[in-house]
Amino acid sequence: MHQETLNYAIIMVRHFATFFLFLCSLAVLSQPHVVAHRGYWRMEGSAQNSITSFQKAASVGCWGSEFDVWLTADGVPVVFHDATVDGIRIEDTTYATLMNHRLQNGEFIPTLQQYLTEALRWPDCRLIFEVKPHRNAKRDARISEMSVELVNMLGLASRTDYISFSKNACKRLHELAPDAKVAYLNGDLTPQEIKDMGLTGIDYNMGTFDKHPDWPLEAKKLGLEVNVWTVDGEEALSRFAGMPGIDIITTNDPEILIEIIKK
Ligand code: MG
Repeated sequence: MHQETLNYAIIMVRHFATFFLFLCSLAVLSQPHVVAHRGYWRMEGSAQNSITSFQKAASVGCWGSEFDVWLTADGVPVVFHDATVDGIRIEDTTYATLMNHRLQNGEFIPTLQQYLTEALRWPDCRLIFEVKPHRNAKRDARISEMSVELVNMLGLASRTDYISFSKNACKRLHELAPDAKVAYLNGDLTPQEIKDMGLTGIDYNMGTFDKHPDWPLEAKKLGLEVNVWTVDGEEALSRFAGMPGIDIITTNDPEILIEIIKK
């Protein structure tokens, strides 16, 4: 073979290799991020919203871990999902009373400060911080203010994304943390309405996207981030993992999703 032909062949192979790597990087970039819903709790020794559930989510390599925050009657932000604990409303009870309760894995209900302090040990896992809709706008504002204050104080602002079903909380969070991502959960606002509110994303139930299949790409065009919840099981996870416009999937089965994405 002539030297010139050989050189040409080598150059072409290099071009193809570069192009192939470029395609691979595009494929990786388009993979959705994995968020553990209420932490990773579907495993031995864990429980929803427990400190352990955050450790598990981070240790299996989740991009983020979601958790829910309420304010007690005496002004202590705590991490728990339901509005009530053993029939008692968190908003009507003191933190001391909540200490009588245990999570399914035996842990106490964590205060937000305890939970976030643990998160400091796991710097690679984002915090998907849900502010629960409280009794009135005043309490929505109060919990939002306390949340942002604590996140900032602990130096976690750059890895915390806020979400809420409450429009009041979303607006207040956006005012308090204008550089943070704030996404709305309730599914009743169009991507354009979210954009007009100044929020950064939609974080909607999978049924909402089935009803409005054009919303993910519509949101992307507006520069919004798109998160879908709660997608469980291999079939549904595969479907949403391959859906254009979906940036983040929130799931109770993070390890199944991580495997799907690896393939
Ligand atoms: Mg939640």
